[in-house]
Amino acid sequence: MTELGRGGHWRNWVGNQSFIAQHMAEPEDEAHVSEVVAEAGRRGIGVRCQGSGHSFTPVVATSGLLLSPKKLTGIIDIDKTNKTIRVKAGTRIGDVGRALKEQGLSLINQGDIDTQALAGALCTGTHGTGIKLGNMASQIRGMRLVQPSGEVLDVSLDTDEEMLRAVQVSVGVMGVITEFTLQVMDAYNLHEKLWRDDFDTMLAKHDELAATHRHFGFFWCPRPESRHLYCLPDTSAASSTDKDYDVCEMKVMDFTDAPPDSVSGPFEKIAYSSEIYPIEYVPNFHELEYAVPLAAAKEALCAVRELMLTKHPECIYPIEYRFTAGDPGWMSPFHEQDSITLSVSGGPGIDYWAYLNDVDQILRRYNSRPHWGKMHFLNRRDVEDLYPRANDFRALRRKLDPEGMFLNDHLKLMFG
Ligand SMILES: Cc1cc2nc3c(=O)[nH]c(=O)nc-3n(C[C@H](O)[C@H](O)[C@H](O)COP(=O)(O)OP(=O)(O)OC[C@H]3O[C@@H](n4cnc5c(N)ncnc54)[C@H](O)[C@@H]3O)c2cc1C
Repeated sequence: MTELGRGGHWRNWVGNQSFIAQHMAEPEDEAHVSEVVAEAGRRGIGVRCQGSGHSFTPVVATSGLLLSPKKLTGIIDIDKTNKTIRVKAGTRIGDVGRALKEQGLSLINQGDIDTQALAGALCTGTHGTGIKLGNMASQIRGMRLVQPSGEVLDVSLDTDEEMLRAVQVSVGVMGVITEFTLQVMDAYNLHEKLWRDDFDTMLAKHDELAATHRHFGFFWCPRPESRHLYCLPDTSAASSTDKDYDVCEMKVMDFTDAPPDSVSGPFEKIAYSSEIYPIEYVPNFHELEYAVPLAAAKEALCAVRELMLTKHPECIYPIEYRFTAGDPGWMSPFHEQDSITLSVSGGPGIDYWAYLNDVDQILRRYNSRPHWGKMHFLNRRDVEDLYPRANDFRALRRKLDPEGMFLNDHLKLMFG
């Protein structure tokens, strides 16, 4: 009988999700993943994988077998001609960036942090900002997933595009991912600029900044102390406004031929792509984020700002606002829909549910789709209404995993 490992307690990065698993295993390689998954199947034990625990939702939770990505890490191959990378699924995004830099390549886009496991980030549709840039999962060209029997499903964009679109954002319910092949591009440096605008100035420039910069996004800060909650720098010296409340901390990033560090200061810097994207956060917030269709972006933003200024003035975490292009992934929050993402947060230990619920009620009006790893109020019906391929996704999931081995209570509600 295969050993499944001693169980134990698990908690996520911010500490709002925790559970006790009956077994915990750190598979050495894909063959070992197959062995433990098949054994769990024989014993009727559920299986979930952890990434780096940066999701705020109960997407990792299991009372059965929890698989760690710790040893499923490393670069398998870099193809410089086709600009692709084969990488084990537990590799941290930052490590992928460092390996690509050595080979004169770059990831196409990244989010605000680079400590997530690749599989964790891609499974939930993690994104950066850029009106013409898809989420990170839209860069997948192939992936391998261990099925309940222990067999491996090898999916490639070249040979089975429909299957790839089905599994590219799966929240871990289509099997244990062991590796990805990702599209990458020639190495590039980014020139980042930060400044502060008041809200109306930002609105007036919104469309132009989005259209003319590779990356544009901002944090709207209702109070002077808001920016400290997200470790944002003090941009007053680069500010177009004297105000320090109800302001936008603006950021653009663009390609540059200038060498790294040829510009370097508190509000402007140039560096290799993957060294510019990540910013600093501390685990002091519980975040909700929805992808809002681009056409409704400014209206939705104004409505949430109004809610915060009038009904919930005590809620002072910034709104983070970014752009992501639509993609064909069946369960991608950006499925066939160019979007902005709008996020708000509550503080640990504070009863923020009425506030988050009000934000949800506003964003629902625009058919916005939640980030799978951030707090939301989605039920089974909502998933059907928002995702045209939801029933196809469920049918495929039931075919691949008839016993629901890779589901937990949270995921059963949406995908069971
Ligand atoms: C400080 C902070 C900053 C963030 N910044 C951004 C951002 O800029 N953009 C954005 O979109 N999101 C962002 N997020 C959200 C984050 O990217 C997602 O929640 C992401 O899923 C976390 O990755 P992880 O490795 O921690 O995965 P986890 O949260 O541990 O897991 C996520 C999901 O992946 C599944 N999974 C993990 N490994 C496997 C595997 N091998 N096979 C199958 N399933 C697997 C898990 O079971 C789970 O369902 C941020 C979160 C935090 C806390």
